[in-house]
Amino acid sequence: MSNQKMDTLEETLDPLDWKALQDLAHHIVDDAVAHIKDVRTRPVWQEMPADVRVSFTQPAPLQPKPLSDIYAELKETLLPYSMGNIHPRFWMWFMGSGSFTGALAEFLASVDGSNLGAGNTSAALIDRQVVNWLKQMMGFPESASGTLVSGGSMANIIGLTTARNAMAGIDVRAEGITALPKQLRFYASDQVHSCHQQAVELLGMGNNALRRVPSYPDFTINISALKKMISEDRSAGHLPACVIATAGTVNTGAIDDLPSIAALCKDEQLWFHVDGCIGALVAIAPKNHQLVNGIEKADSLALDPHKWLHVPFEAGCALIRDANTHRNTFALHPEYLENKPRGIAAAEYLHDYNLQTSRAFRALKVWLAIKEQGVEKFGRLIDQNIAQAHYLSRLIGNTDQLHLMAPTTINIVCFRYVRPAGTEAELRELNMEIMLQMQESGIAAFSDTTVEGHHCLRIAICNHRTRYEDLDLLVDEVLRIGDQLAS
Ligand SMILES: *Cc1c(COP(=O)(O)O)cnc(C)c1O
Repeated sequence: MSNQKMDTLEETLDPLDWKALQDLAHHIVDDAVAHIKDVRTRPVWQEMPADVRVSFTQPAPLQPKPLSDIYAELKETLLPYSMGNIHPRFWMWFMGSGSFTGALAEFLASVDGSNLGAGNTSAALIDRQVVNWLKQMMGFPESASGTLVSGGSMANIIGLTTARNAMAGIDVRAEGITALPKQLRFYASDQVHSCHQQAVELLGMGNNALRRVPSYPDFTINISALKKMISEDRSAGHLPACVIATAGTVNTGAIDDLPSIAALCKDEQLWFHVDGCIGALVAIAPKNHQLVNGIEKADSLALDPHKWLHVPFEAGCALIRDANTHRNTFALHPEYLENKPRGIAAAEYLHDYNLQTSRAFRALKVWLAIKEQGVEKFGRLIDQNIAQAHYLSRLIGNTDQLHLMAPTTINIVCFRYVRPAGTEAELRELNMEIMLQMQESGIAAFSDTTVEGHHCLRIAICNHRTRYEDLDLLVDEVLRIGDQLAS
C-alpha cells in the first residue's frame, strides 16, 4: 500500500512554476493600475460586439489551459465592457465608484482565505472592528451589535427579521407566524425601497403587512397619515410592530423626519428601523450631518458601505441596538459548531448574527479604506457630492428646456427635458431617448424613474471622481441631444 502511494503523483491546484505565476500577477496588477488611472479617458460604457457575447457561451473546458492565455483573452472581453460605475460620469441607480485600495483588499482577503463565519483569527477581529467603527460613525452605543452582509437588501432583512421576532409577542422561531394571535403590521412611506417588500414576503408576513404611508410633497413620510394608519390597524385588531424610516429615498433622496418617527415609535411602542442605505453615512459629513439627526435612535439600521464608502461590491451592514435581541434572532449552535476553550474555535461565532454560515472577509476592504483615508475624508467626499448635486440643480434651473422634478435634498437630482405641449407619453419617450443616447455614446450614464406619475431623468452622484466640469458637460449634452430630438 505505502509503495503504491509513492508511485502516484498527487494533484494540486498550485502551479508548477511559481515564478511564472508571480510574473503574471505583477503584470495583471500593472494593467489594473492603468485601467483605473485612465478611467476618465474612456467611454463610461459601450455595447459589446457579438463575438464577445458569444465567447461567454462556450461549455466548461475539460482540460487545463495556461492562466496567461486565459488572461490575454479576458483582457479583451471583460474590462472593456464593464458597467462603468468606476467612471467619473456614472450616476445611474445608486452605487459606489470603487477604488484601487478596495481591489487590493479583495485580493488580500482572498490570500488570507479565512471564513468569517467563526474563528480565532485576525480577520474576525477586523470584522468586529469594522462593525464597531460603523456603530461609532452612526452614533450607536458600544453595546449595540452588527453584522456585515452582502448589501443593503440583506441588511434590511436582518433588521426587519429582528424586529418581527422582537415584536411578535410569541416565540416566532419555534411556532412560526401562523401562531400569531394578531397580524403584524409594518409601516413605510410609499417611497420605500422594494427590498422591504421582499423582506416581508420572505418573513411570511406578506406584502399587505407592509403598509405604504403617503408621503408629503417633499417625498418624506406623512407623519399624521402614519399615526392614523397605526390607530386604524389597532382598531382592526392587527399588531402594529415596526416603522421603517428611509434616510435617503432611492427615487429622490428624501430623508424622513427621523426625530419625529423616533418619538412616535417610543410613544406607540413600535420598533424603529431605518433604511440608511443611501443616507446613513451623511452622519459623517461635516456640512450635512444634521440631515440625519435621530438616526442614532434607531432600534435597527441598514447601511451600505458599497455605496458612499466606495468599497467594491458586496458590502452592507446591519446594526441592532440590542445585541441580545439580535443574537436571539439568528444564533444556533449545532454539535459541529460549538465554541472551544482554546484553538481556532475559541472565538464568538460571527454567523450568530445573520443567516450565512460561511462568510466572506468583506470587512477588509472597508477596514483598509477607512484606515487609508480616515473617516473625515469620506465625510468631505459626501459633502462634495451633495454640493455637486445642488450645483447641478442650479444649472438645470438656469435653462428653459430642463425642469427639476423633485427637491434636491442630498445627491439625487430628478429632472426632465420638456417641450411645450408635450404629453406625458411624449416626454417619457423623449427623455428615455436622451438617456439611452447618452449611455450608448459613452458620455454619461444615468437612469430614470417616475415620481408622482411624472417620468424623469435621475442623477445620483455617489462618485468620488466626479468634477463640476462633468456636470457642465452633462447639462450641455442633455440639451444638445434634447434640442436635436425635439426639433
Ligand atoms: C441600494 C438601496 C437598498 C438595497 O441595497 P443593496 O446594497 O443594493 O442590496 C435598499 N434601500 C435603499 C434606500 C437603497 O438605496
